[in-house]
This record gives sequence, C-alpha cells and structure tokens, in this order.
Amino acid sequence: MKNYSKVIQNIARAMLRAGLVDEVVAFGRDSPASDIIPLFITDERDVEKIVTVSYYPCSLAQLVALYGDKNKRIGMIVRPCDARAMVELAKRRQVNLDNFYIIGIECYGVLRTRNKNEEIYIFPNEMEIDGELKTLDEGILSPNCRRCEYPIPTMADVSCRIEPNGESSVTANTEKGRAVLAAANISSQQSPSDRTAIKERAARWQEKDFGELKKMNRDERLKYWLNQLDKCIKCYGCRDSCPLCYCEVCNLCPEKPLIQGGEIPPERLFHITRLMHVGDSCCNCGQCEAACPMGIPLSRLYHMLYKELSSIFGYESGLNVNSLPPISSINEEDLVKTGVDLG
Ligand code: SF4
Repeated sequence: MKNYSKVIQNIARAMLRAGLVDEVVAFGRDSPASDIIPLFITDERDVEKIVTVSYYPCSLAQLVALYGDKNKRIGMIVRPCDARAMVELAKRRQVNLDNFYIIGIECYGVLRTRNKNEEIYIFPNEMEIDGELKTLDEGILSPNCRRCEYPIPTMADVSCRIEPNGESSVTANTEKGRAVLAAANISSQQSPSDRTAIKERAARWQEKDFGELKKMNRDERLKYWLNQLDKCIKCYGCRDSCPLCYCEVCNLCPEKPLIQGGEIPPERLFHITRLMHVGDSCCNCGQCEAACPMGIPLSRLYHMLYKELSSIFGYESGLNVNSLPPISSINEEDLVKTGVDLG
C-alpha cells in the first residue's frame, strides 16, 4: 500500500516538476491529524500529503468544474466515477479536457462513512486494513459502489492499479498519459485487470437493489418512489454534491418560479427536474445519496433510471467524450426505432 501511494505521489510530483500541470488536485491529509480532504497542490513537496485510502468525501470533478481556475493546467488523481464525470462535464463544455491530466485510480468501492481508526483499501474480494488483508465485508461499501461496473478508469490518461500482494502497475491510455509516465520515468504496462469479480458483484447487487422494484407494476413503483421522495426536506444536498449539476442559475432555487419556496417536501418537480437533467448521464458516484440527511436511496433511483436509458439507447456515460447523452442527441426517429413512448 505504501508503494502504491508512492507511485501516485511520484506521478503527481513528475507532472508538477516537468511543468505539465500548474496544480494537482487529489485527496490527502493536510497534516497527520487531518481528515481526508481535497488538496490543491502547487508545491511538489506537498505531494507527500496525497493518500489512497478508500474514502472519497466529495467529487473532485465537481470541485474543479465549479471552482477550478480555467487558465490552469490541472492534474487530477481520481476514481473512475470522477474520471467519468470529467468526460460528461467536458461534453457540456464545463471543463476543457485539454487542460487536464487525469490520473485514475482503479477502485473497487469506497466506504459508506469514514472510519477514523482504520486505513482501508478495497480489492475485488478483499480489503486491506492497516496493512492486513481481510475478506471483504461488502456491507461497509457505499451502495452505489457495490453496483458499479467500472472499476478501471480507462477514460483517464493514466490508470493505476494495485494488487493485493502490493505490486502496482500503471497504464498510459492516451498521449498525455504517455507524457506523464515519461516524466515520472515509469513504464506503461498492460493492465492485467480482471473485471470478472467486479462484474459479478455488480450484477448481484443490481439484482438485489433493483430486482424487487422491477417486479412491481408501474403504479406500485411510482408509489414507492414518491413515498421515498416525500421524506425530502429540500436541503439541496443532492444537487450541491452532484458533479453533473453545474448550472450557475438553478431552476430549483426559490427565486425561480418553478419550485415554491418554503414548501416541505418540495413539489415533485424538484426531483423530476433533477432526474431529467442528469438521469441519462449519471456516473453512479453516490455523492447525492451520501449527502442526503433523510436517507433517501437516491443513487438507486438515478442508477436504475440510467441503466434503463442505457439499455434503450446504448449510451454509457463518461466513457467517450465524442458520444452524446440521449437527452441532447435523440430525435423523433430514434424514439420510434427504440419503441419509446413519451405519451
Ligand atoms: Fe431532499 Fe435528500 Fe436532496 Fe436534501 S439531499 S434535497 S433531503 S433528496
């Protein structure tokens, strides 16, 4: 594990030293006693603060899209869902990927909550706690991670992987990735990653989380979700934590005519609007559900809708910057072909 962190730190240092980037954005500790926080590193001595434990408190893609300096070249150390969010944000012209060097960390899940006493890193079937390998307790994973089928950040410039035996390997996926590895003097290796265990786990949890709901008829399913959404206290946590919610002026704000201010729960349009805006491109990062103080299973709702749309339109979010999400690309002819009835 130590070696893995060192590999990531070396890549971050090399990007800064070679002048490929002005800043590196990553999670780490500002001091030994600090919690895991986003770091914006410009001094190469600070790369040692970067850590790779399985806790991911917010979306770095969202931070750079909202607050990043558009004139800076930025290196990002991110998990696959955040790398996918960057691709989706690029399609929406919220970031210019030419300015980013994305270093993806292969990820087999993050923790539901921060465990202060233990450093945990998760492998497909095992977890490393304080340097010791144990059988993975899937119950500690965020629900969205258990359903995730994208543990390998192939859409990043570089993807980094660690094996349970401590060996790490790094793969350059793009020209920029090759430049990074050349600067870090690391050779690119073919990723030996086997996704079978993760695909099986994702299928098992999707069946568990979606199966019961799919068995319901349309009215029962609607009733289930409306009951869940009626717990909403309109704190805006889901909106504010979503990497794909970037509008500076949001239609859900009380000063806009769409949603009545002061009403709890909010009108259903509140959630329908969010679903319409991001449902076809959800990267299943789980930040909405983690932010919700009312325990509404939002990532299940968004992930289920995304899977449904993906099966109809064949769109996979965050994998390819040149393929556009259905809501912005489909036309009437496509709807007829796919048999979708909007009536
Ligand atoms: Fe409602 Fe939960 Fe979203 Fe807050 S985070 S607005 S309570 S759904």
